[in-house]
Parts: sequence; C-alpha cells; structure tokens
Amino acid sequence: MENDLEEEYKPPAKLCKLCGKKLRRFRVSNDYKERKYHKKCFESIVEDVRNFQTVAYTKYGHTKRIDGKTIAEHKADKNPLVVSFD
Ligand SMILES: [Zn+2]
Repeated sequence: MENDLEEEYKPPAKLCKLCGKKLRRFRVSNDYKERKYHKKCFESIVEDVRNFQTVAYTKYGHTKRIDGKTIAEHKADKNPLVVSFD
C-alpha cells in the first residue's frame, strides 16, 4: 500500500535549467510540473538581472559599445566620435 503511494507521487526527474542538477520533489507545494530552477538558482538570476549594468561586463562577458564600436576601436579610429546635444 505504501509503495503504491510512493509510485503515484513520483514525477519524472527534472534538471535545473541553470546548474543542471536534479530538482527536488517537494510534496508540500504542488508546483513540480512548472518548476524549472532551484529556488537559490532562480534568486541568483533575479540578482543578476537587478545588477545587470555591472554583471553584464564582469560575469557575462559583454563589451561596452558606442555606436557599434568598442572604446578601443574608437580610440584607434581616425574619425573622432561626435556627440551633439539638442
Ligand atoms: Zn540549480
């Protein structure tokens, strides 16, 4: 009888989309079907979005570009960058 209940509550194993490790099966909240991330992993995504102006360059390897060129490319360019104010 108890084994039957165990089988009934076992959804297929799912992996976190961020870290790739197994998601735990919580029975308290019935949201396993929709769950894609660990709570901690999801919080780190939210934190990265909140600080994207800095982590974009430090963690995700983005390069600052102005008018499609990096600052180094602008410095090497013979044509100066013109900024106009209205
Ligand atoms: Zn995770």
